[in-house]
Amino acid sequence: MIPASFDYVRATSLAHAIGLLREDPDGTKLVAGGHTLIPTLKLRLASPALLIDIGDIEELKGIEIADSIRIGALTTHAELLASEPLRKLLPIFHQTGDLIADPQVRNRGTIGGSLANADPAADWPAVVVALRAELELAGPNGRKRVAAKDFFVDIMTTALKPEEVLVAIHVPRPAAGAHFRYRKIRHPASGYAVVGVAIALCLQDNIVSEAAIGITGATGRAFAADAASARLIGKSLSSENIEAAASLASEQAECLSDHYASADYRKHLVKTEVFRALASLSAV
Ligand SMILES: Cc1cc2nc3c(=O)[nH]c(=O)nc-3n(C[C@H](O)[C@H](O)[C@H](O)COP(=O)(O)OP(=O)(O)OC[C@H]3O[C@@H](n4cnc5c(N)ncnc54)[C@H](O)[C@@H]3O)c2cc1C
Repeated sequence: MIPASFDYVRATSLAHAIGLLREDPDGTKLVAGGHTLIPTLKLRLASPALLIDIGDIEELKGIEIADSIRIGALTTHAELLASEPLRKLLPIFHQTGDLIADPQVRNRGTIGGSLANADPAADWPAVVVALRAELELAGPNGRKRVAAKDFFVDIMTTALKPEEVLVAIHVPRPAAGAHFRYRKIRHPASGYAVVGVAIALCLQDNIVSEAAIGITGATGRAFAADAASARLIGKSLSSENIEAAASLASEQAECLSDHYASADYRKHLVKTEVFRALASLSAV
C-alpha cells in the first residue's frame, strides 16, 4: 500500500499544467480530489514519474449560471449538491450528488476527476450524457469541446488525450417544462452504480417534446439510450409508453457481468430503473 516514488508539482495555471503534461504525457498524472488516483497509486496500478496537482487552478473552479451553465472541472460533488441556484435550474445535480458515496468522498472528489476517470459505474457520466453537455478540453493545440455522449469511449477510457486537461462542463439552459431524474441501484459495498439512470425531458401539456436518457453502470461506458428517448417524443408518459421506452433502453445495453451482477440482471435493472425514473416524472 505504499506508492512508487514520484515527483510532485502544484500547477499555478492551466498553461503550466499543460506545459508539464506535454513534456512527458505518459509518465505524468493530474491529481484533482485524489480519491481515485491515490488508491490507484497505493495499489501500484499506476506509477507516474510526476504528479501535477491542479487544485490551485482558478479556471477549473466554480459554477457559473448564464445563457448556459458552466461547471468547472474541480467542482466537488459536495459543491454540486449544495448549490441552490443549480438545484433550482437543474435539480439532477442535487439528486445525483446526494447518492454519491459519503461526505468525505463528496468533499474531495470532483466532477472533472469522475468524468476523466470514466469508471463504468460512476454517476456523473450518465448525467452529462442526459443533459447533452459539452466537455471543454484544453491541450497544447488549444481548446475544443466534445459532446458528452462521444466522450466516454470504453472502460476507464475517454476522448481525453494524455496531454489534455478537462477544463469545464457546459450544460445548455433547460427549456420551460423541463424535468429531471437520477436514480441508481447502489452496489452495497462501494455505493457505485450497479445501474444508474439519468433522465432529462420536457413536457408540454403532458406530452413529451424532448427527451434524453443517460445510462451508467450497465455497460463499459455511459451511453445515451437514443431509441428509448425517441420512442417518448410526441407521447404522454402513460404506462404503455414508459414500458416501451424502458424495453428499448434495455435492448440497447450490452451489459457487463461481474460476481455481483450478471449481464442479464443488469439488463433487467436497466429496464426497471428507466421505468421507475420515467414513472416518477409522470406524476410531476
Ligand atoms: C469510498 C469511495 C466511494 C465512492 N463512491 C462513488 C459513487 O458512489 N459514485 C461515483 O460516481 N463515484 C464514487 N467514488 C469516486 C469519487 O467520486 C472520486 O472522487 C472520483 O471518481 C474521482 O474524482 P477525483 O477528483 O478524486 O479524481 P482524482 O482521483 O484526482 O483523478 C482521477 C483520474 O482523473 C484524472 N483527472 C482528474 N481531474 C482531471 C482533469 N480536470 N482533467 C483531466 N484528467 C483529470 C486524474 O489524472 C486521474 O487519472 C467513490 C470513491 C471512493 C474512494
